[in-house]
Amino acid sequence: MSETLESLNPINDLARLGDDGLEAKAPARPHSAGAHQPETRNDWQTAEIVYLLKAPLLDLLDEARAVHQQHHADGQVQLASLLSIKTGACPEDCKYCPQSAHYTKKTGLEREALLDVDDVLAKAQIAKDAGASRFCMGAAWREVKDGPAFDSVLDMVRGVRALDMEACVTLGMLSEAQAQRLAEAGLTAYNHNLDTSPEFYKEIITTRTYEDRLDTLANVRGAGMEVCCGGIIGMGETIEDRARLLQELATLDPHPESVPINALVPVPGTPLEEQPPVEPLDLVRMVATARILMPASLVRLSAGRAALTREAQILCFLAGANSIFYGDQLLTTANNDVDDDLALIEEAGLRIKPA
Ligand code: SF4
Repeated sequence: MSETLESLNPINDLARLGDDGLEAKAPARPHSAGAHQPETRNDWQTAEIVYLLKAPLLDLLDEARAVHQQHHADGQVQLASLLSIKTGACPEDCKYCPQSAHYTKKTGLEREALLDVDDVLAKAQIAKDAGASRFCMGAAWREVKDGPAFDSVLDMVRGVRALDMEACVTLGMLSEAQAQRLAEAGLTAYNHNLDTSPEFYKEIITTRTYEDRLDTLANVRGAGMEVCCGGIIGMGETIEDRARLLQELATLDPHPESVPINALVPVPGTPLEEQPPVEPLDLVRMVATARILMPASLVRLSAGRAALTREAQILCFLAGANSIFYGDQLLTTANNDVDDDLALIEEAGLRIKPA
């Protein structure tokens, strides 16, 4: 921990107290920017994380940047592309999601069948040609069911890997045997987000439990694949909920290799449509804190980036973001313009991670 950040503990009331009066405390083991790489910790306490989330921004950024430089190629950003391979009619009731069948009457989102394997691979090739080295595919399912649809997804995974791209899928809950089949097909990572804290979770989703999600993550890990797992801010949670989400992630052993940090995109017709926009600096703080807690993980700046200014995005890179989702659409919501992204990367002097 930098001396500056450490010294906050006795002098900064904001940094010392969480929303519920929880006494925040400085993280137990320093992350020094010196010659020795700090060990990765899996025992982070809520109070330490609240402390980081509330630290003065420049100190937090200094610390996150020091950790980032120790563990990652500085200035490198991975472009990932995310395609919805089966859209809508999901039986889950995630309050933020326009793909839930519970809100279809209000969102008007049309259900689409699973895309053809060839069409998906054509899109992967386009994404690769545009500079993406990771291709993510999402299906609005509660869980994977064995059968022709899953077989097609396995073919998509094989095809994406044959393009020499990383392949990630998000298909809902997954059994051990299905995880094994995905691993055998060459899947790089499986995405399954925790979304929020265990305490706030029931306000957002009632159709499956936090434990269900942790079980799926365990199945992914058991099959030897990388875990892609993160969450969403801006759904009405407290700072402590954000800390608890990060704590759940940072106490997984090993840490998720990939941590998407999302800001809610309030979609008309969903129960969260009236949520106020996320304060961009809150997103910066989440990225910086995730970077400090999980030094080697790839932190992905995900949904909600379209609402950020160029300057806020650059602050996210400064805070330790390794990756952005690239392409005009993120599943069913609008994403940043591709040309704007390339211009931002060039003007900021960032380098695109090669395939
Ligand atoms: S499980 Fe996924 S697709 Fe289904 S409602 Fe929740 S977020 Fe949307």
